[in-house]
Amino acid sequence: MKINAQRLSQHFTQMSLIGKIGETGTCRPAHSPEEKQAFELAASWMQAAGMQTHIDNFGNLIGRLDGSKPELPVLMLGSHLDSQPYGGRFDGVAGVLCAIEAITTLVENGIKPERSIEIVSFADEEGWRFKKGLFGSKGILGMLEEGDLQRADKDGITREQALISFGCDPTKLKESEYAANSIYCFLELHIEQGPVLDWGNKPIGIVTGIAGPLWLTVKLKGMAGHTGSVPMPLRKDALLGAAKVIVGLNDIVTQVPGAPTVGTVATIDVFPASRNIIAEEVVFTLDLRDIDLERRNNYEKQVRDLISATAEQHQLTYEISVDTMSEPRYCAPWIKDIIRGECETLGVDAPELMSGPFHDALALSYACDYGMIFIRCKDGISHNPLEFSSDEDLALGTEILYGTVLKVLDKQ
Ligand SMILES: [Zn+2]
Repeated sequence: MKINAQRLSQHFTQMSLIGKIGETGTCRPAHSPEEKQAFELAASWMQAAGMQTHIDNFGNLIGRLDGSKPELPVLMLGSHLDSQPYGGRFDGVAGVLCAIEAITTLVENGIKPERSIEIVSFADEEGWRFKKGLFGSKGILGMLEEGDLQRADKDGITREQALISFGCDPTKLKESEYAANSIYCFLELHIEQGPVLDWGNKPIGIVTGIAGPLWLTVKLKGMAGHTGSVPMPLRKDALLGAAKVIVGLNDIVTQVPGAPTVGTVATIDVFPASRNIIAEEVVFTLDLRDIDLERRNNYEKQVRDLISATAEQHQLTYEISVDTMSEPRYCAPWIKDIIRGECETLGVDAPELMSGPFHDALALSYACDYGMIFIRCKDGISHNPLEFSSDEDLALGTEILYGTVLKVLDKQ
């Protein structure tokens, strides 16, 4: 291996001490003193590799290694160092620390690229503090929305106030934006956060794309009545209708064996929620994801038809509202090819898989080509102190990332 696996492992250990909860947990909220401390530690490693570092006005940590032709669009790598409130040691951290190790190796090998390289730890990827994620990565691309700075956390602190306490100047966000075409491509290494690689006993995965979710809210309305007296054929039971739709959704998304489609109903509100009143109104959320947009659209139609047919059968009325409709964002084939080539060189059999969760790369995909490397995580557990990826897998992923960086730099 060209990268220094021991140094990489030490960096993970040191980083895990910041915002540590329990034995293996992490709590590093966005724009918090803990995140600042994590930035200082990561910046010290970037500086040791000869990178210049600064924190921009979105609260992103940026390390830059100037190339001999700094006017060329930059090669950007990164992920995030903020964590869930009850999170693990690897989500986001892997993408920053493995990138630092890859670039440190490049510098130690005396490679002087023409293209400048930047490593970014994006601010507030997780999104729980202000209930909206990808703040830093959307920010640098000018993709923030009205009111984003006024969103408040549970203590009433707004994003704007949090940024000011972090040392940022929210009146100068424009100065921290990247001009169009100033980023050549973006590489993100991330733990899978799902069980596919671990079940398949594969250390590394090549990401095909990030499946944008379709989020619907479905409301079914029937008629309340006494559960002891209204005969079955005369009922308008909204919860029974919802149950059929939930089961039907599961059938729809599992039509094609082995396909990555996922469909979930995870919240349900019942009115009036009394054990002896037939449910009059049921509202539930529906989450449908697929990397194949045509299939997702087809399944959406099947779900809508099912809701309509179920409503008719049980004499219900219904409303469907669309909360989010994101399109899948595909990794650049040329970057996937490079990653696959690096895996083959190292004798790693890396399957392709889609990312169900979103990552900073989703925002970057609107500005440049991107590629992602997934690292196996034990039992697919993430957003949990039990989250675990082995030193060996992380080192292997970093070696592949390093080789990918070299090939991307060679490509002009
Ligand atoms: Zn993450």
